[in-house]
Amino acid sequence: MADYELTDLTIAAARTGLRNRDFSSVELVQAHIDAGEAARDLNAYITPTPERAQTMAAAADAALASDEAGMLTGIPIAVKDLFCTQGVATTAASHILEGFIPPYESSVTANLWRQGGVMLGKANLDEFAMGSANVTSYYGTVTNPWQATSGPLKGKDLVPGGSSGGSASAVASRIAMGAVGTDTGGSIRQPASFCGVVGMKPTYGRCSRWGTIAFASSLDQAGPLTRSVEDAAIMLGAMAGHDPKDSTSVDIDVPDYQAGLRASVKGLKVGIPKEYRVDDMPPEIDALWQAGAEWLRQAGAEIVEISLPLTKYALPCYYIVAPAEASSNLARYDGIRYGLRVDGKDLVDTYEGTRAAGFGDEVQRRIMIGTYVLSSGYYDAYYLKAQKVRTRIAEDFRAVFTECDVLLTPTAPSSAFAIGEKMDDPIAMYLNDIFTVPASMAGLPALSLPAGLDAQGLPLGLQLIGQAFDEARLLSVAQSLETAAAFDKRPIRSGAA
Ligand code: GLN
Repeated sequence: MADYELTDLTIAAARTGLRNRDFSSVELVQAHIDAGEAARDLNAYITPTPERAQTMAAAADAALASDEAGMLTGIPIAVKDLFCTQGVATTAASHILEGFIPPYESSVTANLWRQGGVMLGKANLDEFAMGSANVTSYYGTVTNPWQATSGPLKGKDLVPGGSSGGSASAVASRIAMGAVGTDTGGSIRQPASFCGVVGMKPTYGRCSRWGTIAFASSLDQAGPLTRSVEDAAIMLGAMAGHDPKDSTSVDIDVPDYQAGLRASVKGLKVGIPKEYRVDDMPPEIDALWQAGAEWLRQAGAEIVEISLPLTKYALPCYYIVAPAEASSNLARYDGIRYGLRVDGKDLVDTYEGTRAAGFGDEVQRRIMIGTYVLSSGYYDAYYLKAQKVRTRIAEDFRAVFTECDVLLTPTAPSSAFAIGEKMDDPIAMYLNDIFTVPASMAGLPALSLPAGLDAQGLPLGLQLIGQAFDEARLLSVAQSLETAAAFDKRPIRSGAA
């Protein structure tokens, strides 16, 4: 056996180790199953699937032995429980999907398994991916493996961010080598920032949405959470691709992202959007942002100040569009064909009883907001107006990309907060997404990478936003930033540290 912890390896290093027969996938997967067992209290998984993992690992070892390895052969991965997995309970962290076992596999996860990936289990999330702290899950809150080393949060359990909180916590605590999440308004990037890992939302249309439980269909995108930019490049390459089953999936080539990482940032223009310098920005986050710009400048990029004047409308606009689409998507959960059913005196009573019992408070809030903004009389004033603003936001981005190649911003306006905080104030919770939502509204690719710790010892992320379908460049700039940031800290709860 290896004289290092298998759970510490990156995906890139593990691939080499597997190919060199330094260890088997069965050993690698078992190490992650054991680490996951020891960290059950993080509640990162809703449904661990250790037996399936070992079967897949054995198949991976056989493929490796016959030199038939794919991009992820033998690599243990966590899957946000929003992706349908054939024969494995899929809950969306909601009571309403109680007992639902999909008879089909989502396209993104099917792609991962085709490339030899091994499923460790279904990761916890906010109910139907609505939230920023993983506190709305029917299956309980997820804990961030990081803890504050000083200040008032010291000793408290912190949120991992959300909605892909289980995925981020699993990758940070080294109970998964990588994870797939979904990002509608920030749900990959913000938890990545809170947990000190890399999280990437590809361009809308890059990954298929088929078989992924829908939240807001015009915004939802799958993406990877990993411990390095290179690992994100590997995972994205395995997940992405055109899928005729999703009419919004785009038929363009998927480049070799890993090979592209070596591209230099020399001569690239990095835009700093001045509107992201919000009034109450913590000075540490501002300082890290400036440090990030300086690192890229030293690597040969040119830093240019740019303006995205409509930034301040992105969040209010998102909180009209996303609930509107959610209210429509969630109409299908009526207790008739699958999931929870609360029988009533007649059909309407059954619908009402089922939905009242099955959906949590935040989901019900979104359904009510969404139904309101789509109702006749309010449709023009809210939904249509928000769609027009959204078009203008996308135009703003298109205009700045004539002046620069990528944008650099903070990922979130704070580091992780304590479990229980902001719970009774939905608006404070929604403000977490202030820096991530604009790229979502414009459908652009964006990535968060850990760049430093704040004074409390908690990770802070920087966000890069790229042009549509230019993930290759986004990843190469991220690689450069990652090298300069040299973030090598690890959470208190991370295996054998
Ligand atoms: N936090 C945002 C929300 O609650 C984004 C969620 C997401 O990206 N799925 O809607």
